[in-house]
Amino acid sequence: MFRIFCFLLFSSQLAATEVENEINKVFQGFTTKAEAIAILSKLEKQMPYENALDNAQVMAFKCWFSNVSTPNGISEYKQFLETAKPVIQQANNLSLIQELAVCEANQEYTQGNYQTALEHLKPIINTTSVENTISPKQLSTIATAHIVLNRIQLTKGNYQEAFDSAKTAYQLFEKAGNDYEKALALKEIADIHIALYNYELAIEQLQRAKLALTKFNEQEHYKVTDQLAYTYEEKGDLIKAIELYKSIKKDVRRFESDNGYAYILIKLTELNIKLNSLSQADSYLTELNTLSVTDSWILTLYNLTKSEWYLANSQLQAALTSYEKIAGHNQSWPTNLRERYLNLTSRLAAARGDTYLQIASQQQLIALIRDKQQAIANNTLISARLNFNYEQQNLEISRLEHESKLQQKLLAVAEDKSFWQGLTVIITCVCLLLFAVYTFKQVRQKKYFEVLALKDELTGIANRRAILNLKQSVMLQNKLNQQISSLISIDIDHFKAVNDQYGHDIGDELIISITNTIVQTVRCSDRVGRVGGEEFLIVLENQSLEHAKDIAERIRLSVAEKEHTSLFISATISLGVIEIAPNETSEQAAKRVDLHLYEAKRGGRNAVYS
Ligand code: GH3
Ligand code: MG
Ligand code: MG
Repeated sequence: MFRIFCFLLFSSQLAATEVENEINKVFQGFTTKAEAIAILSKLEKQMPYENALDNAQVMAFKCWFSNVSTPNGISEYKQFLETAKPVIQQANNLSLIQELAVCEANQEYTQGNYQTALEHLKPIINTTSVENTISPKQLSTIATAHIVLNRIQLTKGNYQEAFDSAKTAYQLFEKAGNDYEKALALKEIADIHIALYNYELAIEQLQRAKLALTKFNEQEHYKVTDQLAYTYEEKGDLIKAIELYKSIKKDVRRFESDNGYAYILIKLTELNIKLNSLSQADSYLTELNTLSVTDSWILTLYNLTKSEWYLANSQLQAALTSYEKIAGHNQSWPTNLRERYLNLTSRLAAARGDTYLQIASQQQLIALIRDKQQAIANNTLISARLNFNYEQQNLEISRLEHESKLQQKLLAVAEDKSFWQGLTVIITCVCLLLFAVYTFKQVRQKKYFEVLALKDELTGIANRRAILNLKQSVMLQNKLNQQISSLISIDIDHFKAVNDQYGHDIGDELIISITNTIVQTVRCSDRVGRVGGEEFLIVLENQSLEHAKDIAERIRLSVAEKEHTSLFISATISLGVIEIAPNETSEQAAKRVDLHLYEAKRGGRNAVYS
């Protein structure tokens, strides 16, 4: 009897809780996308439910599945809202009304309607004090509202506001006990750090998210790994990026369409080309060619990468064919992609001898990098403030509160006791403030110079400092591994006369043109740097004197044979060559190679002396 009673009691509640349970599985991260869609269609088929609340729950849930990225999708979504709104109104449940509003805000944000999105969010965000009686579900909804707000602020470039919203969301998810969404909030915070070029901090958050997401569905895990790989890539750690992309290849193949899988293969190809592992790149490209890629964006990346690949293999015509498919469409691309595109444009122009285009694209590239440096410099303070570690920050906050209370007391005492004591406190504060400003400036300068320190601005090759450092490390390697390396020192002949006759701009063009000739003549592993106005140094690792002399002669001939700059002028260079002796210092080697260069000058120029 008791059993039957229990059964009746239970089954009467079953209808009310089944919907909720199924939906919770999705919101708590235990389903893949396909499983979530299956749950939605199952719940929809069972409609209408007796309980108005169930119908409303399914409708609010369905909103998240609308795809507003196409005009068709948008009109379907609008129709859906027409039917969903009365159903949700009828249930008269605040939590569901809020959920629909947050979903609407997100859909408006996706369509770029930030103002409308903000209007949907306003009443929810303004719930200032979150009461203790609120259900975890409703807390999660409010948290999601803050996530959407964070995205809007990030898109607008309001980093501090974006960060504050993401942090609030994180704390609300924590309060709601929703570990899954909490981990996703860390990804949003990482996005802010990435936008501020603050890759170390982004990596820290993404690693926390990756660890947390191992407990949930596999799809989120590879998505966060992809984001982490991208961050390493931007930071310049290509090996780590490759390792991460490789680790998710299988899962992406399993869950994504050909377009999604192609993306990972394109990334692997691109990075291997950058590392000059051409046979690795080739194997990924071969696999790529078997896929049917339809997405226009992926196709763009594909053609860009293919062009880079052909260029790396010196197949100029094929490189141009792929390049032409994407040429001219780059204005709306993200910065990092435009940088890549301009680099490719300039290298292709160089290979074709189109100096005009080459210089134009290099100037655009320089402008782009300057903007980036400016952004980094401008954002240093915000970046430093956004170092988000929740536990640590809580400790920090309580420590600061404690200190400020203490300081208040001190101030009160000081005021009481004497004017001079008060003054001391004020002076200390001013000193601290000055010190803080000074430190901030130092940090900003350091970052700025770190970026500047790598490349020569005019030619894009290694600058003086970089090439001299390289020379030193090669010499150290030589000693350790008992290898032989050589140096070539180069100076343009009668360069002053070029400046005097044609002007400084043509002088600059000549430096760029000769740089390119040198770079094209040596191998990738030979390092070329600009050590002064029109002087260059080449470090030939693992090359004997005989080899180095051959290379120097080849460079001399290539420069002499070519017509340079937009005025097609001729130019020659003088070269000194040495093989680095086992026991000489870096300075001694530099002196010796320059001595040969002077001999070449004295001997009449346009010559190689060793
Ligand atoms: P030599 O054959 O003996 O080398 O004669 P030179 O005229 O090349 O003599 P030198 O090497 O002393 O002259 C270098 C000149 O290069 C001096 C300076 O005005 C010019 N110069 C230095 N840096 C730049 C630069 O970035 N752009 C341009 N256009 N000229 C530069
Ligand atoms: Mg000189
Ligand atoms: Mg000179």
